[in-house]
Amino acid sequence: MDSWPVPSGRVHLRIDAGCLVCWGGFGFYLLARGEISYQELVGFIAGYVFSMLFLSPDLDLSRSRAFRRWGILRWLWIPYASLFRHRGLSHRLLLGPFSRVLYLTAIVGMIGFVLSLLGLRIAPSVPPWRILAAVGIGLYLPNLSHILADRISSALGGRG
Ligand SMILES: [Zn+2]
Repeated sequence: MDSWPVPSGRVHLRIDAGCLVCWGGFGFYLLARGEISYQELVGFIAGYVFSMLFLSPDLDLSRSRAFRRWGILRWLWIPYASLFRHRGLSHRLLLGPFSRVLYLTAIVGMIGFVLSLLGLRIAPSVPPWRILAAVGIGLYLPNLSHILADRISSALGGRG
């Protein structure tokens, strides 16, 4: 267990969810102004929620909530957790989320490769770049609030 004031998984989830309310509100504002489309807003929120729950920087810790949330698939993250020291590269502002997206992409790619060997071909249709960008921003922002919360708590005297 982390000692106070290092944010626990639950605290992180609350902070990230609180930020989502703000970002989502801003998204609706942009939607109302016609700056973004409905699909882009949905893509952003879907990316954000997925990242908040399943791509947390704390996947570098096999006893974290983020790790356990993967349920029967959590073994997929064992190599990641053993590769990265807790709060090391996985908690870097750009390299951290990049490492997890790359890791997940590699896994999905391998599954696709195995399926293709079995004769099952999946041809994913790539959505327009604006929706991809919205999903990407959604994937990124929970990392930002997580890492900032960790850094602020460390600066205030927390361990780690
Ligand atoms: Zn963390």
